[in-house]
Amino acid sequence: MTAPPAHEPHGGALGSRLNWLRAAVLGANDGIVSTAGLVVGVAGATGARDALLTAGLSGLLAGSLSMAVGEYVSVSVQRDSETAALATEKQELHESPEAELDELTALLTARGLTPGVAREAAEQLTERDALRAHARVELGIDPDDLTNPWHAAWASFLAFTVGALLPLLAIVLPPASLRLWITVGSVLTALTLTGWWAARLAAAPAPRATLRTVAGGALAMAVTYAAGSLLGVAGV
Ligand SMILES: [Zn+2]
Repeated sequence: MTAPPAHEPHGGALGSRLNWLRAAVLGANDGIVSTAGLVVGVAGATGARDALLTAGLSGLLAGSLSMAVGEYVSVSVQRDSETAALATEKQELHESPEAELDELTALLTARGLTPGVAREAAEQLTERDALRAHARVELGIDPDDLTNPWHAAWASFLAFTVGALLPLLAIVLPPASLRLWITVGSVLTALTLTGWWAARLAAAPAPRATLRTVAGGALAMAVTYAAGSLLGVAGV
């Protein structure tokens, strides 16, 4: 048995690490775009720094908390279903070990092993750790590495917060005459980086994905700025 070449993604570990990284970049992206849209919109209506700070901070907290809750719920559902599937599998292994051995053999045969080799492999895997073998081959999950909903929630909370801090600081810190340009400039620069990085992590063509990300952010800021200006002029 030879190990797969080191440069090829294999096994779950690398894949799931890339997924985490990608989720983090996309979460940061979300934080940048939604907070930038918010503070630029408020800047269209008013020059008051405390209003910008209140709006930006509220947007940061609302966004990061809602991302965290959403992630917690969705990962919990996934984890519950994985736990239930493992419990069923455990019971089946207990009640009908022969049928389960046949099942594992059939699954390995379907993956390209000859029936004789598949049978021998299934027997060895069953002897070592039957539940783990069925979890991986049949269910596609690693019983020792179920996704933790709290980790997922914290990761999205942090990713969104890091992204949201950029437009928040860029609109609040500079002098009033420069704040809009500095915010738009730093947001578009940051989106160029995150868009490019997210595309690279997904092994997608980077220029098109980057352009889409930057255009989306620019559009969000243009729309909210126009809406804010209209409200400001109308004195609402
Ligand atoms: Zn099974």
